[in-house]
Amino acid sequence: MEKLKNYIDGILTTPYSNNYINNYDPSTGEVFTMLPDSDKEDVDLAVQYAEKAFPGWSELSAEERAGFLFDIAALIKKNLDEFALAESRDNGKPYHLAKSVDIPRAVKNFEFFASAVTQFSSESHFTSSDVLNYTLRQPFGIAGAISPWNLPLYLFTWKIAPALASGNCVIAKPSEITPLTAFMLSEICIEAGLPRGVLNIIHGYGHKAGSAIVSHPKIKAVTFTGGTKTGRAIAGVASPMFKKLSLELGGKNPVMIFKDCNYEEMLETTVKSSFTNQGEICLCGSRIFIEKEIYDKFRKDFAEKVKALKTGDPLKEDTDIGAIVSKQHFEKILYYIDLAVREGGTIICGGNPVEIKGRCKNGWFIEPTVIEGLDHKCTPNQEEIFGPVVTLIPFETEEEVLEMANSTEYGLASVLWTGDLSRAHRMSAKIKSGIVWINCWMVRDLRTPFGGVKNSGVGREGGLEALRFFTEPKNVCLKIL
Ligand code: NDP
Repeated sequence: MEKLKNYIDGILTTPYSNNYINNYDPSTGEVFTMLPDSDKEDVDLAVQYAEKAFPGWSELSAEERAGFLFDIAALIKKNLDEFALAESRDNGKPYHLAKSVDIPRAVKNFEFFASAVTQFSSESHFTSSDVLNYTLRQPFGIAGAISPWNLPLYLFTWKIAPALASGNCVIAKPSEITPLTAFMLSEICIEAGLPRGVLNIIHGYGHKAGSAIVSHPKIKAVTFTGGTKTGRAIAGVASPMFKKLSLELGGKNPVMIFKDCNYEEMLETTVKSSFTNQGEICLCGSRIFIEKEIYDKFRKDFAEKVKALKTGDPLKEDTDIGAIVSKQHFEKILYYIDLAVREGGTIICGGNPVEIKGRCKNGWFIEPTVIEGLDHKCTPNQEEIFGPVVTLIPFETEEEVLEMANSTEYGLASVLWTGDLSRAHRMSAKIKSGIVWINCWMVRDLRTPFGGVKNSGVGREGGLEALRFFTEPKNVCLKIL
């Protein structure tokens, strides 16, 4: 069985403990690789090498650093099929999705930040005829990056690329549930000739390797994407150490549908915003609010389309819904479906585990599930399920739907379907979320600020926001004598 390795000081290394963790293929329920069970010793070693690498890396010109990132992007692109296959096996997502979305986006993350850093500038302030203030934006040293399992390489590189482009060295930990493409990235970095120690990838558990990154005094900033509970624990450790923190956390995103929308476009997109990647995208809409006059029609048309989705082997071209990432998560989703029924909900379609014949007979699959009849304040409508489960809720007025949409602790993304431009503007200003999509979903421009409000996060990633996060602004005030 293949044993993955850490990437420290530019080489692949075994963990200090010499212990390994089983890595499961969720579509078969079988262990298919093992990953290092790293701990503090591995992180300490990585920090020593990152510290050594920092002066050389930060003194390169932006163009020179960008050159390495473009090379890494080109090599991932060259190995697109292998990366997509690895992502699909590790996460359970359909292979065609990994090939068309996850891996191309990882390539784009490197390309985007390689370009962005060459366009990055800082401010100057003409104070008076003899005084000029200008802002120096310098990398701070070593950044820690911790990412989740749902979009493994996509989110891992979303953090690493801007940190490296800005001139920092990085200690990064992918989710222990999906380590494979991060390991392949370390092989690519070696091939691209990335200077040693600039990027270090440590595999292992959050409570060991992850917390060693967060608490290391020489790691000056932590960028984290994951659950709100973990984000709170990380903030509890990093904040008293005065580290810079970027937290991209959970969501319970509302989709608000008005009768004046483009119905067909809305219907197609709402199926995608509900069930793409088995609903395991932080941006998926999980609570669907529908204007009362079209509720019955939507309910019927939506259920018809959802029933037609094919749950099955992630490697098959016609699969829409792949496997749930882990047994533990599979059980959590089923718990919430059961809870929704106990709280008075009615299942319109789905609601059950799916048994797939053949290769995937022991995999973890759940039917795409649509539930109605639940109060917007009940637990399944307030807590993040993060699976192929959505609820339908009718509404009568703008005020009512806004009140319900804003009623959770989260505020990551929201979707609004309406043909009324005035309403779209009015509501966008009142929705409490970091992103509002009007008449679309998941349309991403990497220059825009990305992040959530309330318990969905702190700070923004993307575009210049990311480059600002990964640099320390210094005000230089010059008096001309
Ligand atoms: P977790 O919070 O469980 O884990 C995320 C990462 O943090 C993993 O690498 C994990 O390691 C690590 N970790 C866990 N505990 C600690 C700790 N004490 N210190 C440091 N690191 C730790 O999230 P999931 O992986 O379950 O991902 C799903 C969550 O991510 C959902 O809530 C989803 O909404 C959110 N998410 C948010 C996005 C956003 O942009 N806002 C985007 C995508 C997902 P290990 O795997 O070992 O637990």
